[in-house]
Order: sequence, then C-alpha cells, then structure tokens
Amino acid sequence: MSSPESSDTLSFADLGLSTTLLQTLTQIGYETPSPIQAQCIPVLLEGHDLIGMAQTGTGKTAAFALPLMEQIDVKLTKPQALILTPTRELAIQVAEALQSYAKNLPGFHVLPIYGGQSYTIQLKQLSRGAHVIVGTPGRVMDHLERKTLSLDHLKTMVLDEADEMLRMGFIDDVEWILERTPAQHQTALFSATMPEQIRRVAQKYLVEPREIKIKSATATVAAIRQVYWQVSGMHKLDALTRILEVEEDFDAAIIFVRTKTATVELADKLAARGYAAAALNGDLNQQMRERVIEQLKSGALDIVIATDVAARGIDVPRVSHVVNYDIPYDTEAYVHRIGRTGRAGRTGNAILFVAPREIRMLRTIERATRSPIAPLTLPSRADVTNKRVADFKGKVIEVLNAEGLDFFANIVSQIAEEQNVGAEEVAAALAMMAQEGKPLQIAGEDPRPAPAASFDSRDSRPRPGSFGERDERKPRFNERAGDKPSFENRGERPRREERPARSAPSGDMVRYRIDVGRDHGVQVKDIVGAIANEAGIESRFIGRIALYDESSTIELPAGMPKEADNALKRTRVRGVPINLRPDEGRPDAGGGERKFDGERKFKKKPGSY
Ligand code: AMP
Repeated sequence: MSSPESSDTLSFADLGLSTTLLQTLTQIGYETPSPIQAQCIPVLLEGHDLIGMAQTGTGKTAAFALPLMEQIDVKLTKPQALILTPTRELAIQVAEALQSYAKNLPGFHVLPIYGGQSYTIQLKQLSRGAHVIVGTPGRVMDHLERKTLSLDHLKTMVLDEADEMLRMGFIDDVEWILERTPAQHQTALFSATMPEQIRRVAQKYLVEPREIKIKSATATVAAIRQVYWQVSGMHKLDALTRILEVEEDFDAAIIFVRTKTATVELADKLAARGYAAAALNGDLNQQMRERVIEQLKSGALDIVIATDVAARGIDVPRVSHVVNYDIPYDTEAYVHRIGRTGRAGRTGNAILFVAPREIRMLRTIERATRSPIAPLTLPSRADVTNKRVADFKGKVIEVLNAEGLDFFANIVSQIAEEQNVGAEEVAAALAMMAQEGKPLQIAGEDPRPAPAASFDSRDSRPRPGSFGERDERKPRFNERAGDKPSFENRGERPRREERPARSAPSGDMVRYRIDVGRDHGVQVKDIVGAIANEAGIESRFIGRIALYDESSTIELPAGMPKEADNALKRTRVRGVPINLRPDEGRPDAGGGERKFDGERKFKKKPGSY
C-alpha cells in the first residue's frame, strides 16, 4: 500500500491494522486517523524504517505505537520494542498511551524506565518481563551496561522527539544504544525539526527510511479574529465558559475536540451549565447530524461540540465563534475548522486553546496562515461581573419601558411602607432574587495570567522569560552535564565527560508540603498539572511527589523566581488552596506514602502491564 497523502477519505481500517486494535480505537473514541497516522501506519506495517517530521499534538505517538504493537508476540515476554524519549514525563505519557491501546491485548506489558526512579523497582519490573520499554537514554544505557536489559529480541526501535534528545545532550547516549541494537530491526525516528546531527544519525542507523512530513497548508483567513489562550491555572471548561460569557457578539459556536467521547462529555457539561449544547460526531447517522445542524441554524442550539470529520462542510452563518478546545493535528485542519465561522460576509472569531507543550504547533499555524494569533487574556471575575450587570441592566430597562408596571409598583410601595425602607432597598432585594441561580458576582479567585508563549516562531527555540524556559544566561534545570537537580540525572551514574558542557544551573531540589492529598481525590497528575501551569515550571523539572491522606509533598528546584513562588502560593488543586510551604514535618499519621515513581501509576493489577 502506498502512503496516502491525506487522511480525508481514510479510516483506521484502511491502514491495515488488526481487528483487535481497530476495536480498541473505536472504544477509546478515535474517529479517523490524523494525517501523520494515515501516512506512517501503512509504511511502518510494511516494515520500512521511517523518519517522521511531526511534533506533539499531531498524533505521532499512535502513529508509531499502533504498528509497533502489531509486531509484538505477547507470549514472548522479552523486550521487542524500545522507545527512547527525552524526558521521563514523555516516557510515562507514551507508556500510558501504549497501555491504553493494549486494552484488548491481555498480557501485554509496557514499562517506562527513567532516571530518578529506584533501580530496585526497575529491576523487579524488568525481571517480570515487558514487551515494550519506553525509556530515557541515560537509564536505558545503564540497564544495557548492567545487562539488566537485553535487546536480543528487539524488532522495533523508536526515537521520539529526536531533536529534543539532541538539545538535551542525549545524542551520544542515543547513538551508544543504536550501536548495540541487533542488526535486524525496524527503526522509526520522529522529530519536529531536522537539525544536521539528527539527519546524520538517521543516515547512519536507518535503512532506506521513508520520510514523512505533515504538509503545512497555507491559507488566508483574513476575516477571522484569531486568538489563543495558553492553558494555565484554570480548567479548560471553566475558561471556556468564562470566555464565551464575555465575548462580544457571541451568537453561536462550534467547539472542536479530538474524540467522539470528548464531544459527548463536553456537551453534557455545557448543558449542565445552562448552555443549549449538543455533540456532533461520527456516531450520528446522517439524519441525526442534519438535525443538529438544523437546530444550530434555528437557534434551538447555540453550541455544537464536534470532531473534525463530523463538522466538515458545516455552513451556518450565525456561527460567530469557533473554539479549538483541543488543538488540531495540523494547519490544514485548523484552517478548515476556523472556516466554519466568518461565513456569509460576517466577521468570525477563532479561539485556540494551547497547552504549554503545544506552543510549537501554535507557531506552525501562525506561519501557515500567515497571520499572527494574539494571546487572549482570560476575562477576570470583574469582567464577567460587569458583563452580567450590563446584561441585567439591559433587561430591567426593557421591562421599565413596558406597559403594566403599576400593579408591581404598588407592591413595592407596600413592602417599603410595611418594612420602613426605601423603594431602592426593595428594588435591591428584587434584583438579588432575580439572579436565578446565576449570581451577578462570581466567586473565587482569578488565576494568574499565563506566561507568554515561550517558543520563538523564527527558530522554534524557547524564548527566555519564564521559569522552566530555556535561557542560556539563566541557570537551567534538567540539562545534562553536572546538573544535579535534574530529575533525569538523579540516581544515574555520572555522565561521561565528552558530553557538551552546559551552563551551571543552581543545584538542589527543595521539598515542599501542600494541603491536598488523597482525601481530596487528588492524583499526582493533578498536582503536576497545577504546578506546571500555575508557575510555568515544566513538569520535567518537578521532582518526586508523595501523596498522603490530607497533604502531599513535592520536590521543586531550589531558587524558584519570586513570581513562580507567589503563583504557587495561590494555586488550587481540585478547588483546594494548596498552601505551598517548605516541608519540615513528617507524613500524616497512618497516611502511608504513595510515591509517584511510575510503577504505581502503571501497575494496576499484579502482573498486568
Ligand atoms: P500526540 O501528538 O501523540 O501527543 O497525541 C496528541 C493527542 O491526540 C493525544 O491525547 C491522543 O490521545 C490524541 N489522538 C491521537 N490520535 C488521535 C485520533 N486519531 N483521534 C483522536 N485523538 C487522537
């Protein structure tokens, strides 16, 4: 099968995947392959080596994971695939993705191994036998040297985010590993950019690789106001409702998400918040689909939550807003999505939610559409209050101009007289009553504004400015040589001397205590997410997290900038203020430490994964 150019007409079934995996994809709500998947999966299934130029958000993980899983012999409990990733966080994420794709493959085990995690645990897990290893280069190298990991049965090797591995100084380790892989195996290399050294590695270790690149459609989108919100400090859903509430000339919206499941979930949540919202996805038959679109046209619905395929070709002039709740896979999809607004000569608005890891995709979109996308400041509580008050005043004024107020004016006079208060106070009481469950003033705190997007559009390198970003002049965390606080480095043997020297970062990790724990229903990922978003600390710089019943501890790099520190003091996790402070105490009595070491996160049942 030749590699298809576009995923327009393709389904996962067309790509040659097994029924078991197809079934799984349906269960997890993937509707159609993303462009990188449509192109890579057939090539990898045919056994070719591959260079994939793709960044986070394109669906590249499934692009290599699904074909790789087709090759696994579950009965053979030896590593048959090795995926190298630059960070422990990505290793965990990729392992999680594989685990989710393996839900119908009983006995399939994937194991993330990374620096900073205890060797004892890793040795135990390795000896139990895993089919796929997802690891950071340093730790994989250690296990190969110690002969605790064998690649004798390796069929597939994946280098994920190769340019990141280069940037972080891992390229020697990667080559060291590549030199020790068996001659007969398939190699896939994924990289957002293709620096010379990565090209050289590809030439040296890949055999006649097919090269796959996501095409960047250029298009003009002049009549559409484009803004983005960098996901930070607030749940996307809360941000969405806040934004929609204050957007000028809001009439109707199409909100794009990735999966069918997400369309339904978000539609339900918005409906619960009082919006006339419905899902539009590939599970709906043509008649149901048309009905939803008709309702959007007539005003019976104001919001439709759709997947790309389902929203194809929608032409509803009253759609004033398109929200990219999940970032699209490529620029083509973006242009297509936002083209659902600004129709019939009207102006349209396109709002894009961008997670910190997706900033690169934002810049790609800007380049492809040749138009800058401005950052959107999340409306404050005061903004929402002002808008609600203005709407309220508008309604009152409308009624004031209506006929037949005498009867009611009489009631107001009676109450004022009986209670010995002025008519103004009675009016205030009535205004309060009129809120009808939607208070004019909203409670809670405003989140800290998101740090400005940190990638420079010209060279894709991060700009200095916020903590966790890379500034050559500032101390850095998690760089290689001699960088003690690096999570990646901790517990690893000292680095070899030929590694590129880096600026000397400040050293240690500091342990903090926070007032949220298991009793609050908090999971490690909630804490990581909140800290990463609030303080702009990339999650790979976040150290060990231990969950107790009522509180937790978390290790963060020493020498945090004041703003990060302040932001963290205000952070909430699951609505609970975390009250971050240096940890002096001991764990809650009887709480029992729950360490986040990757093992617990994945070890659902004994023997599984
Ligand atoms: P990645 O670029 O691999 O990090 O994937 C980004 C996100 O897209 C992940 O949350 C995936 O679960 C999701 N995803 C990947 N492929 C698909 C697909 N074909 N349909 C829906 N969601 C997908």
